[in-house]
Amino acid sequence: MTDTAAGARTERVVHGPDRPGTPALEARSLTKHFKVHGGLGRGAGTVHAVEDVSLALPRGTVTAVVGESGSGKSTLARLLTQLITPTTGELLLDGEPVRGDARSRRAYTSRVHLVLQDPFSSLNAVHTVRYHLERPLKLHAGRRLDREELDARVLALLERVSLTPAENYVDKYPHELSGGQRQRVAIARGLAVEPDVLLADEPVSMLDVSIRLGVLNLLDELREREQLAILYVTHDIASARYLADSIVVMYAGQIVESGDAVRITDAPAHPYTQLLLSAAPDPERVEAPVLRGRGAPPSLVSPPSGCRFHPRCPFAMPVCSEQAPPTLPVGDASSAQHVAACWLLDPERRAAEPHSEAGEEVSSQAASSETSAGPA
Ligand code: ADP
Ligand code: MG
Repeated sequence: MTDTAAGARTERVVHGPDRPGTPALEARSLTKHFKVHGGLGRGAGTVHAVEDVSLALPRGTVTAVVGESGSGKSTLARLLTQLITPTTGELLLDGEPVRGDARSRRAYTSRVHLVLQDPFSSLNAVHTVRYHLERPLKLHAGRRLDREELDARVLALLERVSLTPAENYVDKYPHELSGGQRQRVAIARGLAVEPDVLLADEPVSMLDVSIRLGVLNLLDELREREQLAILYVTHDIASARYLADSIVVMYAGQIVESGDAVRITDAPAHPYTQLLLSAAPDPERVEAPVLRGRGAPPSLVSPPSGCRFHPRCPFAMPVCSEQAPPTLPVGDASSAQHVAACWLLDPERRAAEPHSEAGEEVSSQAASSETSAGPA
């Protein structure tokens, strides 16, 4: 364990599903700082929205990014679409570094598509479904498509998102559709350019609970049938467990834990992940220790020193406020299966530091997950 721990300290951990081969999209050490100019009682400064995030999205997999509001999830999704430029870090598409010139950006846009949270504002109310789907089809085709061809492709797109019979939907206006149907049209519009990567930022959070599952199941079908690489951004760890192969937990702009979705939700190692799970009503999951909420996420203009979670962590040790924790494998996992950035996982540090009784509790919990979490 000590050897592995020391090794993990020096290498960059790439979070995401454990799968051989070149991922469709990879992010290396993405960092985004926003300069803010203050006003209305707020000071000027730099928002540390995303800090050193490395992530790989293989084809045919769903990776969930989970965290509270303000943890940097949408900023990460926007970085991955090139809607915003990273402060530092790079993107690789099929293993090739992505360039920033206009032509490369256009090509990138057809490979990586972002589905937004709000299907009500993302479809222009004055146009029919047909219009919304024809536009990207025409732009992407690279040649003139005749009426017949366009009609066939529009209907095929609607079928791919299970809006059938497609003829019933094609001439409808957005207001004639339910939220779930609108979100399906928004996804179909993304599929029109035949992307390899679909980024879905809270795609069901504005939908009625009763239709959420249908949209999540659609994403699952697209992963399986079309071998898309999907990033599912959510604040709801229960839905991440339902849909995703792999979960990446973000807190205050940083990845604090990642790995296999079942492993993480059955045996969360980071106190923040435990907090998220204890707040998520999911009868399927194994009971995680219930931690009290203890405050809110920190300001990202002056994030806490050391581990950004330490002011809320009931198990914090002196080192936690002084030094950023290393990212270490949890138990006997390989780093692709399960890692967490927490000093509690460092046996030497735990032995050396005085800490609270609660700390003993989590230590023994971390230790028991070390021994019990065998190869899945
Ligand atoms: P999430 O999607 O997890 O709720 P966001 O990525 O939207 O989080 O936001 C992360 C942090 O970055 C927040 O503190 C937010 O206020 C800040 N932020 C996002 N976009 C900007 C921007 N354009 N300018 C300044 N701060 C921003
Ligand atoms: Mg968001």
